[in-house]
Amino acid sequence: MIDPFGRAISYLRVSVTDRCDLRCVYCMGEDMHFLPKAEILSLEELERLCGAFVRFGVRKIRLTGGEPLVRRNVMSLVANLGKLVKSGDLDELTLTTNATQLAKHAEGLAQAGIRRINISLDSLNPERFQAITRWGRLDQVIEGIMAAKAAGLAVKINTVALKEGNEDEHDRLVEWCGEHGFDLTFIETMPMGEIHADRTEQYLPLSLVRSRLENRWTLTDIDYRTGGPATYVKVAETGRRIGFITPLTHNFCESCNRVRVTCTGTLFMCLGQEDAADLRTPLRASESDHLLESAITEAISRKPKGHDFIIDRNAHPAVGRHMSVTGG
Ligand code: SAM
Repeated sequence: MIDPFGRAISYLRVSVTDRCDLRCVYCMGEDMHFLPKAEILSLEELERLCGAFVRFGVRKIRLTGGEPLVRRNVMSLVANLGKLVKSGDLDELTLTTNATQLAKHAEGLAQAGIRRINISLDSLNPERFQAITRWGRLDQVIEGIMAAKAAGLAVKINTVALKEGNEDEHDRLVEWCGEHGFDLTFIETMPMGEIHADRTEQYLPLSLVRSRLENRWTLTDIDYRTGGPATYVKVAETGRRIGFITPLTHNFCESCNRVRVTCTGTLFMCLGQEDAADLRTPLRASESDHLLESAITEAISRKPKGHDFIIDRNAHPAVGRHMSVTGG
């Protein structure tokens, strides 16, 4: 799959549910309305959809959400997609999770062939963790993270940099990740979906985060890539990597190799644009995958050049949907 700008699409992110057991303040409002079940693809349909993308050249699949591990029986999907890794049809199957259910599932994920996972963690302070996630318990999440480590999964911690939210903890997070052998990625808040709060009050440019970290840590730019949009540095004192995902201060679209499909089978060719393609109708219209495959081909021919995120007091969200719909 080559898009109109010559980029090969090799990375599919699949949101397996729009539901989540947390309500992070920058991500969702507290009173979210979730989709009715009939609109959601079954696990078998999600697997069929992934299979079509793999036949078209996708080499990496990331399951996300919502919270992927709250979807009932999601481990059966993980196990079936894991077979594609074992057969060599896929280079990598991975997952982004908030770790609340990870103590239960870490071992199963490793057995299915998952080698690395991303875990979202914005604070190591229990009260603050609860304030940011509204419903979260830090001890449960730490237990999940340690279960992942014990199961042999390589852990990358994702932290959204929040002005006055966690900026005084960034050094501690670097230190903690160093102690446990985890990489760490900082993310800028993106204007996605209405959250009933002023995003300019949360937004912290990562250029500032990096220059503050440099007061304490020796950071060296490195070429390391994971197929995602982060640029990485090595921390001399811990030997670990720090990634920076900067959709606002630096546009990262030139090297975009990915598309996203939601749990309703809607394909978004860009995280920051509204244009989408309905894959559920062709998927359900025929038992053969011909209609589905032509819908995918047609959609890829419309992949836009990039997004255009702006955080401004008067600006509307760049897109109406929340990150939890498209999958972060
Ligand atoms: N529930 C899983 C988790 O917590 O990792 C997967 C889905 S969550 C939407 C994926 C990532 O998106 C999380 O790291 C979250 O912090 C991030 N995220 C959500 N809304 C965001 C926003 N508006 N700007 C930047 N990152 C956001």
